[in-house]
Amino acid sequence: MTTHDSHCHFFSTRFFEALGREKYGTERALTAEAVALELGWEAPGAPGALANRWVDELDRHRVSRAALIASVPGDEDSVAVAVAAHPDRFVGFFLVNPAAPDGLDHAQRAFAELGMRGACLFPSMHRYRLDDERVRRLFELAARHRGVIFAHCGFLSIEARVRMGLTTLLDLRFGDPLALAAIAVGYPNVPVILPHFGGGFFREALMAAEACPSIHFDTSSSNGWIKFVPGLTLTDVFRRAIAVAGPHRLIFGSDSSFFPRGWRKVIHGAQRAILEELGTEEDAAKKIFSGNFERLFGA
Ligand SMILES: [Zn+2]
Repeated sequence: MTTHDSHCHFFSTRFFEALGREKYGTERALTAEAVALELGWEAPGAPGALANRWVDELDRHRVSRAALIASVPGDEDSVAVAVAAHPDRFVGFFLVNPAAPDGLDHAQRAFAELGMRGACLFPSMHRYRLDDERVRRLFELAARHRGVIFAHCGFLSIEARVRMGLTTLLDLRFGDPLALAAIAVGYPNVPVILPHFGGGFFREALMAAEACPSIHFDTSSSNGWIKFVPGLTLTDVFRRAIAVAGPHRLIFGSDSSFFPRGWRKVIHGAQRAILEELGTEEDAAKKIFSGNFERLFGA
C-alpha cells in the first residue's frame, strides 16, 4: 500500500541556529553543528543535502511523498529548496506566526512565490486566538493560493526545546479547535489539518470536524495526549474519529524530525495494526495512508 506522510519536520541549519541563539544569545553565534552536538542529533548541512537525506530515508521505508515543515518562523526558503529539488516527493509547509508584524508577509511570499502549500500555526506558543482577524487574513491568503491551514491545537511539547533546556511560555488555552472552526467554516475551500487529532482537545476537535467539513485530522506522533483522558486508547481515537469525520478526513502522519532517528516506522506500524484491528476496509485505509494526501496536494 502506498504511503505518504503528511507531517515531517525539516530541521534545517536555520532551525538549529535559532535554538542556539535563544539559549546562548546573539553575541555567541553558535553554529548549527554545535547545537546539533548538544542535542545529540545529526547536523543538517545545507538544505539540498538535508533534502537528499530525507529522500534516502523515505526510499528506505518505501514512503512515496512527505510534507516537510519549515519549523521556525522565516525558514520557508529551506523547505523551498527541498521541494524544488524533489517536487515529486515533497510538499512544503511553513511555520508562521500571523500575530507577528511580518507574519502575513512571510505567508504571502511563501504561498505566492515559493509554492508552499501549508501554513502551520502554533497559537499556544505564539499566543494569539485562532479566531483572530489575522488568522482570518491567513485563510484569505490560503484561499487564493490553494493553501492548507495546519493548526496545532491542544497540548504541545517541543522535543528540541526540552532537550536544550529552553523554557517555552505556552498558553494552551489558545489551542482551541472550536475557535479555529469559527473561522474555517467561512472558507469551505481551504482544507484545515488538526495534527494529532487535536492534541488532547479531542472532543472539541470532533465537534469542530462535525461542524466544519473542511477540517481533517492528522494521525501523527505517538499521540501521547491520550494520557489526559482516563482509559482512552489510540484504537478508541481512530474508531471515534472515523465515526465522526470519516476516513476521507484522516491523514497519516509520523511527526518525524531529526536524524539519526529518521522516519518513525514504529508509528506507521502501530497505526496500520489499529486499522486492521478495527476491520477498516482497504479503500478507507488507502485514503488515510495516501488518497487524502493526494486529494489535498495533487497526485
Ligand atoms: Zn510535529
